[in-house]
Amino acid sequence: MSNVSPKSISILGATGSVGLSTLDLVRKNRDAFKVVALTANNSVEELATLAIEFDVEFAVVGNAEQYSTLKQALSGTNIACGAGQAALIEAAERSSDLVMAAIVGSAGLTPTLAAVQRGATIALANKECLVCAGDLFMKEADANNAKILPVDSEHNAIFQVFDFDRPASVEKIILTASGGPFWNRRGDCLKNVTPEEAIAHPNWSMGPKISVDSATMMNKGLELIEAFHLFPVAADQIEVVVHPQSIIHSMVQYADGSVLAQLGSPDMRTPIAYALAWPNRMNAPVDRLSLPKNADLTFAEPDLDTFPCLDLAMQSLHHGGAAPIVLNAANEIAVEAFLAGQIGFMDISSVVKSALDKSDMKAPQSLSMVFEYDMEARRAAQALVEHHAQ
Ligand code: NDP
Repeated sequence: MSNVSPKSISILGATGSVGLSTLDLVRKNRDAFKVVALTANNSVEELATLAIEFDVEFAVVGNAEQYSTLKQALSGTNIACGAGQAALIEAAERSSDLVMAAIVGSAGLTPTLAAVQRGATIALANKECLVCAGDLFMKEADANNAKILPVDSEHNAIFQVFDFDRPASVEKIILTASGGPFWNRRGDCLKNVTPEEAIAHPNWSMGPKISVDSATMMNKGLELIEAFHLFPVAADQIEVVVHPQSIIHSMVQYADGSVLAQLGSPDMRTPIAYALAWPNRMNAPVDRLSLPKNADLTFAEPDLDTFPCLDLAMQSLHHGGAAPIVLNAANEIAVEAFLAGQIGFMDISSVVKSALDKSDMKAPQSLSMVFEYDMEARRAAQALVEHHAQ
């Protein structure tokens, strides 16, 4: 990196898959970064170990009941610690050049917004921020001059090839989807799949929630909504193409027929490195792409009958209003229940569909309305889960 002074960063969700990949890059480029704050939800021991290794200023655990364990683990160090929602916000508010927003789920919204409101540069992994509150989130980013750098590999790819100076020249965005571990299965074969099978993604190593979302293809649906808020295009200018090898991370098609793509080995450390070093580039220890060794790049239309979650997300994007909030909240509840063995794989889309059918909420005008809708949708989805579990 060409920067002389280290870039200061805070990582929300440091103990997760994206958080640990971020720290891996920092570990290999120690002189380029100063880590200010790290947060986790329950993984206190791991958080304390990382906080000591990176000599951070502030370590926060989301679950307030874990405060004394964290304090104990950090005793004898100069690292300040905190717990609970207010401390997560404080971590985001601490002065740093860049905040990696890598908490999973809508729980990431409030802390990430706190970083946006102080005008930080945000490396945004938490797609749920944009799914639940895209308009409000991007408005806050504009008002506070906060730069949003997408970390999701597809959006990071688009960010790299999108001509922001000439948005009218863009015909469409083509989001690639791996299709997940069940792409070749159809119908009844999906009924009895286990959580272990669902989280075994063929190309990417990710946290459990997003892995299940990839298996149902809800992940691609959430990404459609995310792309709509990140890039100046209309909903019908975003297309999904299944590309099981995950080598082309996404594409932008221009008015003259040119299609620009970003390619690379499927390793999250590439988009994370892009966001960490932006506007420069840094070395990332990822496998270099060999096209001869990846000669069979294939593409297919998504199968919306087998993967109804993608269709539900497309409908939610077109419907607008509160639909994406309900979609996301019901999905979080259903995925949690699936991972806990309470409902089957195909029940996930049924719960989300029923929650959407029952909801008649108008577009939220404020963040408090977003949270109110989110809670309401969670309650409705929980009741549906209990019904399916019987
Ligand atoms: P993980 O489940 O691996 O990690 C989540 C992190 O958030 C952990 O540090 C966890 O702490 C913390 N956390 C969980 N719940 C809460 C909560 N209620 N309050 C505060 N902190 C919490 O997730 P991933 O790293 O896979 O994903 C993170 C985000 O990035 C998601 O939004 C995902 O969609 C997105 N993303 C992930 C990709 C990936 O490759 N993993 C790719 C693209 C996007 P603890 O360890 O204590 O539970």
